[in-house]
Amino acid sequence: MARNLEFEQGPIRPPSEARSFLLRITRNCPWNQCLFCPVYKNENFSLRSVDEIKQDIQIARNIADDIKKISWKLGFSGEISPSVINHIFNNPGYSDSYRSLAVWHYFGTGASFLQDADNLIMKTEDLVEVLKFLKEKFPEITRITTYSRSRTIVNKSVDALKEIKNAGLDRIHIGLESGYDPLLKLVKKGVTAAQHIEAGKKVLESGLELSEYIMPGLGGQSMWREHAVESAKVLNAINPHFIRLRSLRMPEGAPLAAKVRSGEFIMQTDDMLAEEIKLFIESLDGITSTITSDHIMNLLEEVTGKMPEDREQMLNVIRRYQELPDAERLIYRMGRRSGIYHSTDDLRKDPGTRRKIEALIAELSPKGKAGIEEYISGLVDQYL
Ligand code: SF4
Repeated sequence: MARNLEFEQGPIRPPSEARSFLLRITRNCPWNQCLFCPVYKNENFSLRSVDEIKQDIQIARNIADDIKKISWKLGFSGEISPSVINHIFNNPGYSDSYRSLAVWHYFGTGASFLQDADNLIMKTEDLVEVLKFLKEKFPEITRITTYSRSRTIVNKSVDALKEIKNAGLDRIHIGLESGYDPLLKLVKKGVTAAQHIEAGKKVLESGLELSEYIMPGLGGQSMWREHAVESAKVLNAINPHFIRLRSLRMPEGAPLAAKVRSGEFIMQTDDMLAEEIKLFIESLDGITSTITSDHIMNLLEEVTGKMPEDREQMLNVIRRYQELPDAERLIYRMGRRSGIYHSTDDLRKDPGTRRKIEALIAELSPKGKAGIEEYISGLVDQYL
């Protein structure tokens, strides 16, 4: 079998889908106007035909079967061991699709994520056909998730969503970003708070799991309070299974970057963001959602827990950060933004790393506060 065979994959997936089998079923974003989003800006949206997607699924199946055969040949009885992974990764004859499926089988998550930005835009019968075919060809899949937009979901009936669920979809990830209408309008999200609520409720009524992303920092320094409080209100009305925090960053490809340069939009600092997230969590009420901060852009990844019982613990994570002396907060931010620190407790745990961070700050100090901030921003932006 030709080992350069490929099936199509898109550019992004949620952090929680890092170990999922990624399969692109539409290309790019049909809306593509959000000012903070650089991902698909130079790309046109297109649907893929059901036949084309099925062909890709069949190719993926053939590759998965071939990987098993390779394992047998190497003496690992069909198991995808580290040696099988090494063999595939160290041999340039294998395509990226081989690598991707080998890693998926190695981790054995059973999860699949359908790319790109808004797959509920497909005709219900087409999406149902794709899901059924995927389940038939990959019985080892135990969870299928995808991205969609609230604006698209409000146009689907609950019955259609139920059909999609029965065909195999388990969870929808929605970029809610904010629940504050003037801000949604300003960043051209193309949806209102009321539509977010309507879409969220429909998803839940259909029995699908719902994961809503909010974007701390999106209100900048002028709307942060309204953004925090109104986003919490929308989420209180929905009560999704998951609320995921993904803090705003400003890559050059995002149209909002021009407003930052012109001074029209002023970004929140890390300390302001901590206060904003505190207000957001304090404003959540009457919900049972799980909150996660599993995105590398977040300053405090321990702001994670189940509402309402973990609210205080999450607020304490923020308070502990806020109560640190200025110099300690700077060391933490440098460590966190370098991907080394995961908790303010790490400041005490590893004196060697701490000394290195202090030396780096001393080296940068001739550049002043602005120079240090610029360095930290550069650290975060490496993940964009
Ligand atoms: S809907 Fe999502 S993918 Fe499309 S432009 Fe907005 S944030 Fe980007």
